[in-house]
Amino acid sequence: MNSNEIKALDKERIVSTYARHDMVADHGKGVYCYDTDGRKYIDFTAGIGVNCLGYCDEGWIKAVTEQLGKVQHTSNLYYTEPQVSAAKKLTDRTGMSKVYFGNSGAEVNETAIKAARKYGATKKGASVTDIITLKNSFHGRTMGAMTATGQDVYHKDFTPLLDGFKYCEANNTDELKALVDENTCAIMMELIQGEGGVRPLDRSFVDAAAELCAKNDILLIIDEVQTGIGRTGRFFAYEHYGIRPDIVTFAKGIGGGLPLGGVLFGEKTCDVLQPGNHGTTFGGNPVACAGADHILGRIDENFLEEVRKKSAYLKAGLLEIPGVSEVSGMGFMMGVSLDAKAAADFVKDALAEGLMTLTAKEKVRLLPPLTITYEEIDEGLEIFKKAVK
Ligand SMILES: *Cc1c(COP(=O)(O)O)cnc(C)c1O
Repeated sequence: MNSNEIKALDKERIVSTYARHDMVADHGKGVYCYDTDGRKYIDFTAGIGVNCLGYCDEGWIKAVTEQLGKVQHTSNLYYTEPQVSAAKKLTDRTGMSKVYFGNSGAEVNETAIKAARKYGATKKGASVTDIITLKNSFHGRTMGAMTATGQDVYHKDFTPLLDGFKYCEANNTDELKALVDENTCAIMMELIQGEGGVRPLDRSFVDAAAELCAKNDILLIIDEVQTGIGRTGRFFAYEHYGIRPDIVTFAKGIGGGLPLGGVLFGEKTCDVLQPGNHGTTFGGNPVACAGADHILGRIDENFLEEVRKKSAYLKAGLLEIPGVSEVSGMGFMMGVSLDAKAAADFVKDALAEGLMTLTAKEKVRLLPPLTITYEEIDEGLEIFKKAVK
């Protein structure tokens, strides 16, 4: 099929939940994506923070294909080595106790919500199941994760929502304190609101939340679906804040392109979910886990140091571009504010010039692969400059 045929068939036969851009991705290598017409693009999106090692990384392909030739899937009623190997790396690295593997961000947030409710109800009483999340947050599209998401625009048309959620304005410590009561089992938040506009939370607010949780035996759930696995220049963004969450959810970057997510549980919560409480058919798939295990082996301290340096370089380059007013975020999770151009128009023009970017609310969002080189950053910046005009 040629690109026009693909686009026409897509419009006709695929549910239109996405406003797709005018590009048919065909293949990629590293930071470059090529469309079906042979045009080359620099990808500053990494598939929305997923392809952390870029397209078709050789070590990752090797790990994945070797496992593909051994066992492509078995049920979670049996043990597999890729799962435990990835779990060991994740827990060694973070000091968390155990991991649960799922498929996606929304799904692992559901897992965290279930675990928090069970923790509160069994430890403190049947009514202790309320969860406080933040306004302008994003936690996913399934009913629980969507309810946790503090934005009406995602709720509209899909009510009734789940019971037991309260929403606090980000960085409003007084409101948070007022919302906590005897029925609160957890506070759940992203540390950098991603879809909400790449907005890092204030340190004082995060500190206050962590303190409130510790003092009242309330679980602190950090959604690292977008910020995790090296994206912000630390393995998890919570390391920037010096806090110790009780539960951490992650997805996007962990699979390097294959669907995988997980929940890390600390010592208080690691035995809350028991046989029969929760499960998944595909979660922790051995092929996806073999890829994850490879990625976890690659993202060491040197790798993260490089991410931080290259991020500083990209940020400085962006701030030199006339028309760029501000850059928010950390590491390779950036929100770029433009003086005079709407983010959506920029994304369209940049794509036409050969640069793939995203929006986050009123900002241009950049999530390049963590392996991008300085030369590739320069190349992207050149196109960025043209597209701002
Ligand atoms: C993307 C995202 C999700 C949802 O992940 P899916 O894999 O799309 O379900 C949840 N939380 C955050 C912070 C995200 O960025």
